Amino acid sequence: MLKIEHIGIAVSRFETAIPLYEKLLNTPCYKTETVASEQVNTAFFQTGDSKIELLESIREDGVIAKFIEKKGEGIHHIAFEVGDILAEMERLQKEGFVLLNKEPKKGADNKWVCFLHPKGTNGVLVELCQEIGG
Ligand code: ZN
Repeated sequence: MLKIEHIGIAVSRFETAIPLYEKLLNTPCYKTETVASEQVNTAFFQTGDSKIELLESIREDGVIAKFIEKKGEGIHHIAFEVGDILAEMERLQKEGFVLLNKEPKKGADNKWVCFLHPKGTNGVLVELCQEIGG
């Protein structure tokens, strides 16, 4: 794992959350992107070497909507940048971690991503990510 690439935060509404995080971080949101397969809108902020990713559900029954219903708004996942996602997935599987997807999938921000089941990581949803073409 190379570094914390971003922290994902589940929010109810971009309309209020984006201006709030722009104020908090004192930097503009530089990109919003919809990831239809995950039923989310994403909004990105650069903070030094890492990013903040806000997540807003695009459906009432989407994963982020369900997360907020259960736990409220807040930290949803931590994403680590990896150099070789396939090798890292294989290594973690051998170590006994449960991968939520067997193949890397296309995430937001031009990344291949894979999630680890939070039951195996002390309740933290962990995302591996690698720049596509990087
Ligand atoms: Zn993420």
